[in-house]
Amino acid sequence: MRTELATEPGDPARPNEDFAAIGLPASGQGGSLVVLDGVTPPSTGTGCLHSVPWYTARLGGALTELSVSQRDMTLQEVLAAAITRTAEAHRQTCDLSHPRTPQATVVLARWSPATVEHLVLSDSALLSESPNGTVTVHLDDRLSRVPRASLATNEIADATVRNKEGGFFTAAADPSVASRAVTGTLPRAEVRALAALTDGATRWVERFTEGDWTACLTAVRKQGPGALIERVRELERADAAAGSPRLGRSKTHDDATVVYVEL
Ligand SMILES: [Zn+2]
Repeated sequence: MRTELATEPGDPARPNEDFAAIGLPASGQGGSLVVLDGVTPPSTGTGCLHSVPWYTARLGGALTELSVSQRDMTLQEVLAAAITRTAEAHRQTCDLSHPRTPQATVVLARWSPATVEHLVLSDSALLSESPNGTVTVHLDDRLSRVPRASLATNEIADATVRNKEGGFFTAAADPSVASRAVTGTLPRAEVRALAALTDGATRWVERFTEGDWTACLTAVRKQGPGALIERVRELERADAAAGSPRLGRSKTHDDATVVYVEL
């Protein structure tokens, strides 16, 4: 088994709001991977005393622990329990009903001798590769289906589509969001590798079209997660120097995380 993980903040002066972990219980019978991308809060406030890294560390820690210790729970049940545990940690001090309470995208995968389960919520990506080299991308594409006009930078518009029917869903303080996640189970024999990427890293495919998802997984395997992120940074610097034709109004650099697991 081979596992590799790399994460880089978009801005070295700001805390990285991504979270990544690999859980390998001592039984040696399986494991899990967790990748979160914390949503950058608006300057107008979140109703919460805590930072996004505070939130992602607690949610990610709970997901890592529960996914390997509670094998009888589905990944949706694991996500719901982790959200509840995290909410309880600040329910007394913070307004968890605030629409911009700290939140994150989620990729969760768990393998056993028999199966590989996955869960994706919001716009991070999970790639799975079969023994014959076929790569499947597991995405929650709700965000890309929200009309662009609704995603205006203005906070009122954002609040009408965030965690609302017809909009898109992120893990925040309400455990019922777990039922919105994209999930699936594959036989272990049909999966030889997994890669999870936050949207700062999927830019390699989605913004800069360096290759398709198969090429992306191949690059991660051959050069490693850190090299893929470094290539994204090069492309971002070149795009900014050219007047941002690819990135447009998006920030030049975003927090970027890649986790690779060869089963
Ligand atoms: Zn709080």
